[in-house]
Amino acid sequence: MKIIIDGRDVDVEYGETLLTAAKRAGIKIPTLCHNEAFEGQGRCRLCMVEVERGSMKNTVASCTYPITGEIKVSTSTPLIEKMRKNIVMLLYKQAPGSQLIQDMYKEYGCVDNSLEENNADERCILCNLCVLACREMGSSAISLIMRGTDKQVATPYNEAAEVCLGCGACAEICPTNAIKVIEKDGQRIIWNKVFNLVNCQRCGKPFATREQLGYIAAPGKDISTQSLCESCRRKSAAEKIQGFM
Ligand code: SF4
Repeated sequence: MKIIIDGRDVDVEYGETLLTAAKRAGIKIPTLCHNEAFEGQGRCRLCMVEVERGSMKNTVASCTYPITGEIKVSTSTPLIEKMRKNIVMLLYKQAPGSQLIQDMYKEYGCVDNSLEENNADERCILCNLCVLACREMGSSAISLIMRGTDKQVATPYNEAAEVCLGCGACAEICPTNAIKVIEKDGQRIIWNKVFNLVNCQRCGKPFATREQLGYIAAPGKDISTQSLCESCRRKSAAEKIQGFM
């Protein structure tokens, strides 16, 4: 099946989202709340595009729009660009401390807004990706709480969550670098919880929390003597392959 995106014929699969199809065809649509590991959320609305189906024309969030028939898509009309600029201005008000949002603010030619002093360091855009990543890890230690301007990502009662593994998947996926992770003296502090780090058996660098390794290890396995960091695991795998050649 084919659709037209920005004047180009693009092969698509029935039911896949517009964002996925565009991406595969090398057509860039901006987004902040989308990650390939998860279904589209339609939260940030940056991926809005214009869709023409017969005589109907609509603006839709491309990350949640399933392709079910012949359509003509425009990813960058004056209307779409105006909408994106307004969204970026709102994101800047929400998360002025984020370098990424600051860069987008300039890129979209937004004019200087006076910032409220009390949120100048704020970086969270409430995209929910960290919550999804945590859920995927099987922990669900964080969630979006409260409403309106008080909405935030937090652990229950903002306290150290028993189920948190300290894996840092939330911080890893965060597009705006909003999650604070402190690593020093063999410890990692995240979401108000202190974790002891396990050293890589090969290079000796601290690389993962005991809870994280315990969660993925086979029962009875001694995690402190059989753990390799990502880089050493790759080296070790390459050496094994060379050994077979
Ligand atoms: S902390 Fe980061 S990943 Fe989580 S909602 Fe905020 S911006 Fe998104």
